[in-house]
Amino acid sequence: MIKVKKNLLRTDFGYVLEAPCANNIICGFSTREFNYDFRAGSCKRDYQEISRKRENFFESLSLNLQNSVFLEQVHEAQVKRIYKADRGMGAYDYKSSLAKADAAITSLKDTPLCLLSADCFPLIFWYAREDIIGIAHAGWRGLRAGIAFKTAQKINRIYKCEPGKIRVFIGPGLRSCCYEVSSNFKQYFPNHTLSYKGRFYLDLLKITFSQLSEAGILKKNIIDSALCTKCNNSDFFSFRGQDKKQRMISFVSLK
Ligand SMILES: [Zn+2]
Repeated sequence: MIKVKKNLLRTDFGYVLEAPCANNIICGFSTREFNYDFRAGSCKRDYQEISRKRENFFESLSLNLQNSVFLEQVHEAQVKRIYKADRGMGAYDYKSSLAKADAAITSLKDTPLCLLSADCFPLIFWYAREDIIGIAHAGWRGLRAGIAFKTAQKINRIYKCEPGKIRVFIGPGLRSCCYEVSSNFKQYFPNHTLSYKGRFYLDLLKITFSQLSEAGILKKNIIDSALCTKCNNSDFFSFRGQDKKQRMISFVSLK
């Protein structure tokens, strides 16, 4: 596992992963500078403001918001393949987001795959040849349904990829330092619920790792931002840190 804080380039609106992303892929995530989730808005002016900020965010990265695809994110494990006709879904409102999807994969260029998160992990996938990408929204419910494994598996199956050549970037999310849960979680994740001084903590990172490795992804090809949203609440929204409605964008696009 590579810890990449040094490879994260701070921009005006967030972070972009430099190495080991090479020439044909751009990926990264926003910070708490602005909330990009339409569901937090209550009036037309809010929606216009969110659209405008999304436009600025994408323009700053030379990406097309009108071609981007946002997921509905229902905390399940459906992985959708993205075609040209899907471009623009969820870009300017929540209603048109890609229905029931928590993950998306594509080989289309100029089609940013996007998700919104506060504590759930954004997982960004790309193939070593840099012609296939994916994104997955991985909270505890999605991981319980196998989202990390299923995204990797679908990339392998649809695009005939060698799993040993898939790379994954794990963005900011709630880490085991801050993810206190009830003892019930031992039933769901017996190997990844840690107990400490009578309290229980969930390790989403290790669950993600074990699913990726089950899908054939090599540990050396998993790149962790090592950023905890709650520990770094001054930089990121955190649902557990009381940011109930605000969300950051994570994105990946083939240039
Ligand atoms: Zn933490």
